[in-house]
Amino acid sequence: MKTSLRDLTCADARTTDAGRTVSLSGWVHRRRDLGQLIFLDLRDRYGITQVVVDAQEAPDAHAVASGVRSEFVLRVTGTIATRLAGTENAKLATGEVELRASAIAILSSARTTPFVINEPDAEIDEAVRLHYRYLDLRREPLQRRILARGRLVQAIREVHHAAGFVEVETPLLIKSTPEGARDFIVPSRLQPGNVYALPQSPQQMKQLLMVAGMDRYFQIARCFRDEDLRGDRQPEFTQLDLEMSFVAEPDVMAWVEEMAIAVSGAVAPERPILQLPFPVLTWREAIDRYGIDKPDLRFGMELHDLADAVRGAGFGIFDEALAAGGRVVGLAAPGMAAATRKEIDELTELAKKAGAKGLVWIALPGPGAEGGIRGSIVKAVGEERAAAIAAAAGAGAGDLALIVADRDIHAQEALGKLRVELGGRLRLADPRVLAYVWVHQFPMYQWDEENKRWDATHNPFSGVMAEDEVLLETVSGDPYRPSPEDPAGRARALQYDLALNGWELGGGSIRFHTREKLSRSFALMGHSPEQQEAKFSGILEAFEFGAPPHGGIALGVDRWAALLTDQTNIREVMAFPKTSSGSDLMLDAPSPVEPAQLAELGLALAPRPAKG
Ligand code: ASP
Repeated sequence: MKTSLRDLTCADARTTDAGRTVSLSGWVHRRRDLGQLIFLDLRDRYGITQVVVDAQEAPDAHAVASGVRSEFVLRVTGTIATRLAGTENAKLATGEVELRASAIAILSSARTTPFVINEPDAEIDEAVRLHYRYLDLRREPLQRRILARGRLVQAIREVHHAAGFVEVETPLLIKSTPEGARDFIVPSRLQPGNVYALPQSPQQMKQLLMVAGMDRYFQIARCFRDEDLRGDRQPEFTQLDLEMSFVAEPDVMAWVEEMAIAVSGAVAPERPILQLPFPVLTWREAIDRYGIDKPDLRFGMELHDLADAVRGAGFGIFDEALAAGGRVVGLAAPGMAAATRKEIDELTELAKKAGAKGLVWIALPGPGAEGGIRGSIVKAVGEERAAAIAAAAGAGAGDLALIVADRDIHAQEALGKLRVELGGRLRLADPRVLAYVWVHQFPMYQWDEENKRWDATHNPFSGVMAEDEVLLETVSGDPYRPSPEDPAGRARALQYDLALNGWELGGGSIRFHTREKLSRSFALMGHSPEQQEAKFSGILEAFEFGAPPHGGIALGVDRWAALLTDQTNIREVMAFPKTSSGSDLMLDAPSPVEPAQLAELGLALAPRPAKG
């Protein structure tokens, strides 16, 4: 990559270049001063080249090199030379050669950096990293991850273009689209009193692009949700957003699967995909087997229904749960039979935090272990029955069965959280493996007791499975008067989520594409005809002009990049992320604004609530 300021990058020089006179530009990665000889490691994005400055060969360059420090920016001119035998550096691509400097120009000097750039493993305070993000980005770990993210986005673009998708940009100043989070809003100066919302996703726009006949759309779309932040959330994030026309659920899933395989291979070719084709679970199966709708399939430790095993055992908690229509579910923690009282108390605490009322345990002694079966219910149900229950939970000799009794779903979810925790502690998941899994057939609605209406569990624009369309009825007979007894509560959405290693990578659905059906669904979700007109008139009207059946999906690009580079926080794959309180520490945002700017917008800010 020759430019006016360099002939080669710092990764290019090889023994075949020996004898060439060239210029290199870059940062001083390391400097060793041996008096007569000064060694400089010159670094750019591409690599490192060793520069040798000899006081006799090049006295002027040596004088300059004496004054340079780490992170100075230099242009070095010199001759490529093969290194003396025994002094090669196998770790560098350029390790067999060096640049013998004849002239050095200082392009920029540098203050002492707040942390060392050339130590990839250094532990650096998070706030300092974020304040000096451009320096953190100069370090090898973030360079590597940001480049991997770049390859991810490039691969996404390439496969979509090759498959006939058209990339369309949609606006950021839009009307609020409810996606279940709070909007960021932008006041309008030209229309005082009115606001735009930043998109939580391009949902309505991409559907309108289908009405427009675009057939296959994708976008690397920035989305904004004003939510409390966690490891996999930021106020603004990036989605691969796509929509396709004349498709049913298997078409979208097949495309996304093909695309995900190609993209994973382009970004992380060394990481095997656990199962091809991707396994597909119904939401019910996912909950019953893993207690979660984004299961980590890199390890087993599945949940087992213990109703048959515990029935009639005479253990009150189990009997009560089953009598009330609830569930008794268990799993087997491999090799944990010797768990101490303290460890079991700890697991019980975890289960309670996860929503369980308590945790029943049975330990089956391993071969050669002293003592017999132990557990919290052994006395109550007898050794034989306890052993049978543990076996039904999947436990063998040396394992620890953990059991939760509670309402349906609640019981599985609590135990599912324990499964995730144990999987981590016991290191059951192979960190190299990519375990993609589809989950579909989610319930379309969940009852919102506070507002006395149905709410979409995922996306308000989703359609429901054809055989469940008859369920979109209310007991009252009036679609605008929903109640928790409505058959609608049993309708399954044409919604599919893609999970990867225990994270929700994304989700999408086949949409209702007629005004009548979408409007009926909105009614169940408590939107009166007037509200529908106010909030959704655009898309409802568009559906009167011939909308093709369509569906799509959105995948989290930040999450994908984090998973492909082994990170647990999406901050680690974002160039300029925010803190958990939503601050940009580098540019100092959010920040107060001049009163005049507010006045122009017709805004007055309420006094700040006292901190405390
Ligand atoms: N708009 C949805 C989301 O952002 C994805 C989709 O249904 O396509 O989660």
